[in-house]
Amino acid sequence: MAFRSSLPAGRLLRGLPCIVCWLAALAAGNAAGVTFQSSGLYQSFDQMTVWAANLAATNPDIVNLVQYGTTTGGRPLLALNITINPLANDPNKPEFLFAGGLHAREAIGSESAYKLAQHLVNGYRSGSSTFQNILSTRDVWIIPTQNPDGRVVFEGGYSTMRKNDHWYSGQPTVGPSYARGVDLNRNYPHKWNLASASVNDETYRGPSVLSEPEAQGLWNLLHDKTRFSRLLAAVDIHSGAATILSPWTSPSEFPAYPLPADTRAKFDILANRMSQLTGYSTARLGYNSYGTLTDSLYEEFGTYAFTEEVFEGPFTDYFTLFNPIDQATRDATVDKAIASSMYLLSDEAFVVPEPSVVVLLAGGALLLLFVALRRRPPIALVIPMTPKPCGASHRRDASGTQHHEKPTHRRY
Ligand SMILES: [Zn+2]
Repeated sequence: MAFRSSLPAGRLLRGLPCIVCWLAALAAGNAAGVTFQSSGLYQSFDQMTVWAANLAATNPDIVNLVQYGTTTGGRPLLALNITINPLANDPNKPEFLFAGGLHAREAIGSESAYKLAQHLVNGYRSGSSTFQNILSTRDVWIIPTQNPDGRVVFEGGYSTMRKNDHWYSGQPTVGPSYARGVDLNRNYPHKWNLASASVNDETYRGPSVLSEPEAQGLWNLLHDKTRFSRLLAAVDIHSGAATILSPWTSPSEFPAYPLPADTRAKFDILANRMSQLTGYSTARLGYNSYGTLTDSLYEEFGTYAFTEEVFEGPFTDYFTLFNPIDQATRDATVDKAIASSMYLLSDEAFVVPEPSVVVLLAGGALLLLFVALRRRPPIALVIPMTPKPCGASHRRDASGTQHHEKPTHRRY
């Protein structure tokens, strides 16, 4: 998210001469600072697209690559569905979504999401029972880049690029104030009408709710009942701050519209553990944000949805405001995002029934049904009277009852 109005604006206000320097740097495509290309630390959109296709092609038993839309610029919107037998769409498996790159300039979020996907595949291939359990009971969805068009502009040297590059009348198309597009994290339904209607704002909400193909595409995907049965938890990975946000994102809305007490308590448990694992706070940001993905996911699906704002300073320009520029810091930041995501996928965060338990419960129910039918008075001339030894059905009875001691695990 990281609409850090206070930082660039603060710099401008501290001294007029800086305005000239700063704008000159931006006009030159941030030549004075680090750029995506010069950093050399991040996969490009094209590289991630090739990588995602390869990951799915070489792991068809656990990875399915889904195109859920096409951008205004004609680029594919891609999601990786990672679970055992991903084409089966098992309704018993709750879905988990991890997404990065909603804001074009936040390369570290995309990097974190795609490395999480690789981490899950590598862990499963290693034979680890932890990963086996996750992918057999959970339906994981990962979107490394939610904003391909904006991302490609950013990769071309515009380190300030945040929006989706979908031009609306009145938006400058050249120079330092290049600001084409909509802020995709203001285009979602929750209180969209309260977000900025000014086309030149960095947080422009768009002409209507879900006006943008990136937002509409994801919304359609999440409502596709053949793919999503219950979106249990989600993380939208951003950068520029170091905090874990849960609904409601806006500091003025958060206290004014409290969540139900048990839901709030669960959110707090999850957020506090994610905070421990990352070192990030759980504090609200200093500005209101409406139309965000995270708030909309909670409002629409009841999802335990978080915005994870990652940041490792210091910053010296727009690129470093959002992205680490040395490999060690990049890797440490990615590792934190992976750790918090793996926690949400763990039994510690959500107890999800093992498939074996589901099978046993179903088997027990069938057994009880069979025993009950056997005890009905036999229909003469249709079913021959062949009495079974009494002890056999009793033993089956006891076995069936035992399995029904476990349904409490379905609470999550
Ligand atoms: Zn962001």
